[in-house]
Amino acid sequence: MTVARPLVAGNWKMNGLAISLDEARAVAAAIDAQPPACRVAICPPSTLVHRMADALGGGGVEIGGQDCRAETNGAFTGDISAEMLADAGAGLVILGHSERRAGYGESDALVAAKVEAAMRAGVEPIVCVGETLAEREAGDTLAVVTGQVKASLPSALQGKAFAVAYEPVWAIGTGLTPTLEQIEAVHVAIRETLIAQFGEEGRNPPILYGGSVKPSNAAEILKAREVGGALVGGASLKAADFLGIIMAA
Ligand code: PEP
Repeated sequence: MTVARPLVAGNWKMNGLAISLDEARAVAAAIDAQPPACRVAICPPSTLVHRMADALGGGGVEIGGQDCRAETNGAFTGDISAEMLADAGAGLVILGHSERRAGYGESDALVAAKVEAAMRAGVEPIVCVGETLAEREAGDTLAVVTGQVKASLPSALQGKAFAVAYEPVWAIGTGLTPTLEQIEAVHVAIRETLIAQFGEEGRNPPILYGGSVKPSNAAEILKAREVGGALVGGASLKAADFLGIIMAA
């Protein structure tokens, strides 16, 4: 395993129709013309994964899913497996996003099972962790985040490519961001946890920051210690904004 390149990934959440593929095409064209220093991924809703993979056809933009089920197939109405994402053209999958942890009661153990499913399907997981505002105000940030890292990352990840995304819940979609010192403190703690868990290989996975990243704050966040890219929600929906972040990496 070599030291991973930074990764800037867009999480479109439940946004995007066929017409939105034009935004992805614009991102792909721009990075083909001017290759950035980072890997670039877009994680559209699952209805668009296959169409986006077809539309971008092996260019510089990687395609990811936003979640998967731990099982391969079966009677799980409405769900999607890692194998299905891979079959549709996704090479990555976001797992354990706070909107799923909070909205669907996903535990660290379930996230770890989903990570194992992603490994089985050859899909690279981006595993999200982050504290709520109440946890930060109680002084529990580092304990909460490192606890999530330990319990959400199974030993099956040893030697495999994966990323961790630190996303303070209170910074997602709010326009609020932690200070650079706060970001660095958490990223350093995550790195130490990864090294404790995976040995020297724990130095390699990129640790993305996510939470109200935009073109105007991306450069300073992406330069912070142990920040290896960004997971971007709202600002990934428009090619111009997303490119402003990508080119800052
Ligand atoms: C996210 O939901 O992963 C995210 C980072 O959202 P936003 O950039 O909109 O805060």
